[in-house]
Amino acid sequence: MLNRRGPTRPGEKSPSYWGPPAPRCYNWFDVDLLKNAISSIKVGVEDSQSTEHERLLSAVRNIYAGILLLYKEKLRRLSPPNSDEALLKAIILPRLDADGKVIFMGRGRKTVDVQQMKERFASLGIATDWGRFDRISGVRNDLEHYYANVSEAQLRGLISDAFVLVRDFVVSQLDEDPRALLGEDAWQEMLAVSEVFEKERRECQELLESIEWASDALCRGVLSLACENCGSPLLRAGPAAAAQQDEVGLECRACGEREERESFVPRAIASALENELYLSHSDGNETPYVACPECSVEAYVIEEGRCALCGHEADHSCSSCGGNIPPEELDSSPLCGWCAHMMSKDD
Ligand SMILES: [Zn+2]
Ligand SMILES: [Zn+2]
Ligand SMILES: [Zn+2]
Repeated sequence: MLNRRGPTRPGEKSPSYWGPPAPRCYNWFDVDLLKNAISSIKVGVEDSQSTEHERLLSAVRNIYAGILLLYKEKLRRLSPPNSDEALLKAIILPRLDADGKVIFMGRGRKTVDVQQMKERFASLGIATDWGRFDRISGVRNDLEHYYANVSEAQLRGLISDAFVLVRDFVVSQLDEDPRALLGEDAWQEMLAVSEVFEKERRECQELLESIEWASDALCRGVLSLACENCGSPLLRAGPAAAAQQDEVGLECRACGEREERESFVPRAIASALENELYLSHSDGNETPYVACPECSVEAYVIEEGRCALCGHEADHSCSSCGGNIPPEELDSSPLCGWCAHMMSKDD
């Protein structure tokens, strides 16, 4: 195979073992990330006024892309000079500079993904509202993976999230004036949507928080749910008279859809314990919730030792050998899987 790097000319540094640097035209240094971020968000806000399906999809994509670019701009600014924009790159490698000191360089063209951004923000102490970001990226993922329609209610929620997030991040992390960056029209548009929306959201959340939920995970999860029918996060507890959690259903303020406990409780548990479930797969941690041995709904929270839907409390130690019953074997409680297996053989 041809050596595409060619010979080292006199005075030129020999290429390192990991190959030549990316071509100049791909360097993030040359791209005005902030300008692109803002224009992407503005196009998104403009598209969101449309009634055409394609333009609504484009609104979601543009707003999401714009926020990622804002985050990248922060990482670009924090990257040490002459590090090839190290913090923006998916791969960072140590190398020795001319004085034999270790420096960290970005490698290749691949830039950070969302998970890496979260890790770098955390270790660099960069604050942003990941809750709002995750809601926006959730809508965007739904649209990319299924041919789903994006409802007006969903878009309003997304724009409101984007507005609050952009405003706070631009001011606190980039030291810029968001109003000047976005321009008066887009600023006013987002502000109007956001003010109405955030007020409604607060009212809905206060109603949900006033319920005496018997499970902490359920209480947290229910606040993060969106309507199954239209995607709006404006869910409130209904009927208004029910203050006890076992009578409470959810009602969507945007489309009026009602959702009963059998449906929203497992959704809320899955949402609240999403991270724990991920860690149980990746790090081998204990499974956070399982199907309830009593009602069979995926709402049995291991840490709480109780089903968030029917309230059933299973025995977690085996009545035969006394051992702890792991979550996966809870359906054979009060016996562990092994003892249940042995007894079924005896029959
Ligand atoms: Zn709805
Ligand atoms: Zn149950
Ligand atoms: Zn046993």
